Amino acid sequence: MERIICSNCKHEYSYLSKIWNCQRCSSPLNIIYSKRRFNRDLIIKETYSIWRYKNFLPPLRNIISLGEGWTPLIKHTHRDTNLLFKLEYLMPSGSFKDRGTSVAISRALDLGVDHVIEDSSGNAGISLSIYAAKAGVKADIYVPKDIPKGKLKILEAAEANIFLSNNRKKAYENAVKASKNGFYIGHLWNPFYIEGFKTLVYEVWEQLGGLFPDHIFVPVGSGSNLLGIYYGLEDLLDVGYIDEIPSLIAVEAAGYDIIHKELFGDSGLPRTELADGLRVLFKPRKRELLEIIRTYGHAMVVDETEIMEAYKSLWRLGFTVEPTSSVVYAAFKKAYESGDIRGDDIVLLPLTGNGIKMII
Ligand SMILES: [Zn+2]
Repeated sequence: MERIICSNCKHEYSYLSKIWNCQRCSSPLNIIYSKRRFNRDLIIKETYSIWRYKNFLPPLRNIISLGEGWTPLIKHTHRDTNLLFKLEYLMPSGSFKDRGTSVAISRALDLGVDHVIEDSSGNAGISLSIYAAKAGVKADIYVPKDIPKGKLKILEAAEANIFLSNNRKKAYENAVKASKNGFYIGHLWNPFYIEGFKTLVYEVWEQLGGLFPDHIFVPVGSGSNLLGIYYGLEDLLDVGYIDEIPSLIAVEAAGYDIIHKELFGDSGLPRTELADGLRVLFKPRKRELLEIIRTYGHAMVVDETEIMEAYKSLWRLGFTVEPTSSVVYAAFKKAYESGDIRGDDIVLLPLTGNGIKMII
């Protein structure tokens, strides 16, 4: 049987525990699998969503799916480098979050939950509202009051119960306070989101048919996408489907560069609000992120000018992303110019959120 384990004190809980953090030390929780391992023969090949990997995801009785995952992988060359854009923004709610939300809301149903509470900069809230509606679960979404107008309108259209807070941090605090009234599904904490994010790696491995990227750039707000990607890579390495973990580059926005600051000190760059999805100053899983990045990766910061330039370039290439998603392209160009990327390297850039939400 699977178990829930504290990422810090390692205390174990039963798999069906209805808790969102460690009851002893308040740290985030993770899942320990009893014997599941990635195996190409156990992929459900006729299913074109994250659920083709059901056999490598946490065991669930209910599955709430809107066809998330199995997103296009588009090849592009930047001078002599091979870029792969993974179009995560083409998911049902227009963001990569749907991979995690599908798993987390399914889990909430397994626990008998009928009311979920979430804090979000926008995308996670939109994703949860849509999946909660499908599941017949009530959703309260706490967002900062300066949430982009387009995202707010979509939340309204999804008939979420919206609670505006003074800023992103307050939205988190208010959601946790309100959790006595319902189940705090918080994507910053919930390990079931991370489990869903693993599937991006499985897909890229299948789509490339053997080749694998040398570098993966990931936008880091709370860092749960990067953690999921790392766990997916570990699964493939464990069964010998890849030879090594590619370099994982955590990309943060100037002023919200908690990981970069911890590793390399202050970037000295002025704060930007442009990448609204990355305005997360409190990262509950910071310790786990630092451990992975110290071992396998690197951290980079991009400023407002670099984000805007990359955003415009991506739209010119036909990728209708939001500014938050552009940070990976901005960071890649910087790494390329400084010589950190070799000419024939393969570079994966997940494009996480749909820019049309910002315009509506
Ligand atoms: Zn603990």
